[in-house]
Amino acid sequence: MSSLIVIETHVKNMLYWSMRDKFAMRSISSEKTLIQCDFDGTVTEEDVSFLILDAFARGNWRKLLEDYRKNKISVDYFNKQAFTMVRASKETLTEFVRTKAKIRRGFKELIDYCHKRDSRLVIVSNGLDFYIDVILSDAGIKNIEVFAARTKFRHEGIEVQYIGPDGNEANKGLKELYARLFLAKGYRLIYLGNGASDIYPARLAHHVFARDDLLHQCTKENISCTPLTDFTDVVKGLKLLPQSCPNS
Ligand SMILES: [Mg+2]
Repeated sequence: MSSLIVIETHVKNMLYWSMRDKFAMRSISSEKTLIQCDFDGTVTEEDVSFLILDAFARGNWRKLLEDYRKNKISVDYFNKQAFTMVRASKETLTEFVRTKAKIRRGFKELIDYCHKRDSRLVIVSNGLDFYIDVILSDAGIKNIEVFAARTKFRHEGIEVQYIGPDGNEANKGLKELYARLFLAKGYRLIYLGNGASDIYPARLAHHVFARDDLLHQCTKENISCTPLTDFTDVVKGLKLLPQSCPNS
């Protein structure tokens, strides 16, 4: 992908909202903005799940990862299966996460910006709630909405459970389920992410900030997006976006 294409896409974005999702456009009833943000590899510099699995999984979790990357299994199924291979206590993993995970530059600025603009910032992640809580609270970040995998530490490995917006178990497409909920509630949806599983909510969003696999996929599908190096890019980009969407 050439940087020229990315810049061109970015400029086009500043000029108009994508009309690709007519349903989403029709659902806009106000100017409320919601920023749905992925966690691993987006809020954090590296994928914390992969760091844990590399260090503690007793089994070939990378074979599962390969299946997920080839679209043979969902990200939710991948996490459920891979984390059963982890034999470590919550205390051990908490200590590990504290020494390894780093939050990407500018995240606090994004929180402040959202607060000032009265925009809602929500993390929806296929990652595990216990390490997201540790990383955010160690960084002094409180009162942020997080929807992620529920973690239970068992003798036979970590049990991962996904609960959807309706309170029922959701074994596929957690991020997309939340994106559809936010759109149905009339929010203008901005999506921030980095991975293959982020393409499903990104396809529904009014604007996307993307890096890594998601940036590549958005470019491939001609989805308007702004490259995300860190969150200062997001704050700058948000300031340039129109504050409301045209009616379809
Ligand atoms: Mg990610």
